[in-house]
Order: sequence, then C-alpha cells, then structure tokens
Amino acid sequence: MTLPYPAKDDSLVLRFWGVRGSTPVSGPENAEFGGNTPCLEIRCGERLFVIDAGSGLGAFGRNCCESLPQDIDLLFSHLHLDHTAGLPFFKPAVLDGARTIHTYCGNLDGASAEEALGRLFSPPLFPVTLDVLPCTFAHHGFRAGEPLTFADGIRVDTILLDHPQGSTGYRFDHGGKRLCIISDIEHGANWPDPDLCRFVEGADLLVYDGMFTEGEYPCCKGWGHSTWQKGVELAKSAGAKALAIIHLHPCHSDVQLRSVEAEMQAEMPTAFIARERQSIEVGRPLVGLAEPPVVALARRA
Ligand SMILES: [Zn+2]
Ligand SMILES: [Zn+2]
Repeated sequence: MTLPYPAKDDSLVLRFWGVRGSTPVSGPENAEFGGNTPCLEIRCGERLFVIDAGSGLGAFGRNCCESLPQDIDLLFSHLHLDHTAGLPFFKPAVLDGARTIHTYCGNLDGASAEEALGRLFSPPLFPVTLDVLPCTFAHHGFRAGEPLTFADGIRVDTILLDHPQGSTGYRFDHGGKRLCIISDIEHGANWPDPDLCRFVEGADLLVYDGMFTEGEYPCCKGWGHSTWQKGVELAKSAGAKALAIIHLHPCHSDVQLRSVEAEMQAEMPTAFIARERQSIEVGRPLVGLAEPPVVALARRA
C-alpha cells in the first residue's frame, strides 16, 4: 500500500500521520500503529487537505515540506486537544511568512476556531500566541452539515457527529472515488444511524472512530467514541468497500491491536486498523491486509 507520492490527478490518496486518540503515546509497544494523535493528509490529485492538527501534524510538515502549497486548508473535526495541540509545531508552514493556513471548523454553530485556539495558545498554557508566528492564519467557521466549497471548485461535504461539543465528519468525492472521515463519534441506540448511512453510502473507504471494543464500551459510554464493531455495522449497511479504524485507545498495544484487527477482518476482510504513515490510494484494491502491512511503515524521520 505504499504509493508513489504525490498522487496522480484523478487519484484520491489518504495518508495517516496520527491515528492515536486522546493523548500521544510512545514506547516499543506502540511502534507499529504509532503514537501521534490525529492528523490525516488527503490528496485529491495533488490538491491537499489536512484533517486535524494532532501531534501527527509535526511529522507531516517535516516529511512533506516540499509538497506543501502556499495556502493550506486545515479541516478540523473539532477542537479537543488531541486534534489541535500540534498546530504550532506544523513546521515549516507556520514559520513561513508567505504561507496562509486556512482553518475550517464546523462544530461551533458557525463560529470559527479563532477564539478557542487563541485561548489554547496563549500564556501561561503556551508561551506565545499564534499571531507571533510568521505565517498568516485565516479562520473559517461553518455549520457541520453544510458543504464546503473552495475557490478551485472542489467541494467537501460535511455532517455533524455525536461527540461532546460536536464533531464534523467529512466526505471527499474525487475521480469517481469516495472517502469519508467519521471521527470523533459516539454511536447511538438506533444504529446504524440512517443519516450517517446515507452520508457514507458507497464509500470506497470509510475511516471511523473505533477507540473501544464492544467489551470496553459500557464503562466508557458517553465519552464520545465508538467501537470497531459499530464501524463494521455502519460500513456494511452503507455498502462501504473498505474500513479503516482510527482514534486508537492510548492503552492498546500493537499486540492487542493486531488481535483486534484479525477479529475484525473475520467479519469484514477489507477492514483494517490504520497505521501511522500508512498511505492508501482510495478505490484501489487493498492488498496485504491479511498480513501486518509493514510495507506501509516507511518511516522517514
Ligand atoms: Zn479525539
Ligand atoms: Zn474529541
């Protein structure tokens, strides 16, 4: 699944730079799936979208600086710390005065991320405010459920997800392929949710918050996350062709995750647990999912 990079024009490529939920982890027990919190790189052809600014954003910036555009569109699922704390470490983008980072936030009733990020990145919580960084920030607010349209004509559809303070799911349609990012989310009693099912219908790849197993979930009900089993149910009823689980529990080791993955693949062979730095060309056959996809773990730094 490691692919030439950047992608061809009609391709839709996703690369995971952080798949851990809640807090970063490190250590040999997390070497395979990785310890950075959420950051996803999406390329519609060469056109870049970044989803979330977790700690994985720093690694993305360091490894992909040559392919960063002057204007970078950063789409937040929401603003919890695990999705925002990497923002000032997005080098070299934030250190480049010619660069503009456009943030999009859909879970604050139309308000942008500006005020919340201003509170987060200010003394004494953080030594400087974002406005001292050389780059320019342009913060855009919208209401999850509204489509986002960009100057180059690309459209990204959105949906409001059930999560404390809400969260935004995203849908990318490009070159006849469909990619849906559904995280962070807690499933409801009526599952699969019909609106969400319609939103992800026919996805070539559905990326889903599977932080817990069904066995763990009862103790964590109301925390705003879901299970891989609910992801499989959603994927099957929506006709999604493949499923990637993200927002991995910080206490789940590689050994546990590999065992969970085997259990999941018995129910849905094209389902897998995302690995940090794994690249997927959406719509292409997913090969090698039965074995640990170590081929995708080309660690460059
Ligand atoms: Zn989260
Ligand atoms: Zn959250």
